[in-house]
Amino acid sequence: MDVSLQLLWVFRTVVVSLLLQCTVGTHYRLLVLHTNDMHSRFDQIDETGAKCVMAGQQCYGGFARVKAAVDRERRRADTGAVDGTLFLNAGDTFQGTAFYTLLKWRAVERMVRKLGIDVMCLGNHEFDDGVEDVAMYIRNITIPVVASNLDLTNEPLLADEPNLMKSKVLTVNGRKIGIIGYLTPETAVSITHTHYSVLFWRV
Ligand SMILES: [Zn+2]
Repeated sequence: MDVSLQLLWVFRTVVVSLLLQCTVGTHYRLLVLHTNDMHSRFDQIDETGAKCVMAGQQCYGGFARVKAAVDRERRRADTGAVDGTLFLNAGDTFQGTAFYTLLKWRAVERMVRKLGIDVMCLGNHEFDDGVEDVAMYIRNITIPVVASNLDLTNEPLLADEPNLMKSKVLTVNGRKIGIIGYLTPETAVSITHTHYSVLFWRV
């Protein structure tokens, strides 16, 4: 999605508590933590997207703050308030600040892996700098990357990437949880790089 249009979404953390009914009638309470469209804003920002350094100023995001919030929520599982936690990320961490402009996927990969994400998907901006960049990002990051609607027949660099999968099953506190990735087919329109032959299926 467009960076400017997504400003209000930056670092917005959605916390959803799901009640999953199991076959024997008891409940499994899964706390799902989710981020997307962080657009390489590793530092906290104000409501305009500028630096947030004034005392008492309302700040948003920043990877250190996100990490602290996620750790705090995860500790709830330890107290028995929930039965398990899952931290998901839907991509678009590429693009948006000088960090990305100068350092590209290497900076994003190093910062994202610090957050403790369990499973992640890709956003359209992860395709901004060519197949080699996104392939290196997926290969080096230690987090499973899921995307179920890609046809990579003509894109062997991604097709042969073992850390890119359609779905992932995690066992969270004894319960198997399946996570399926999906990339918006509009990504094909937004890709400006010429060396792509990825097809995005609409489901
Ligand atoms: Zn975006």
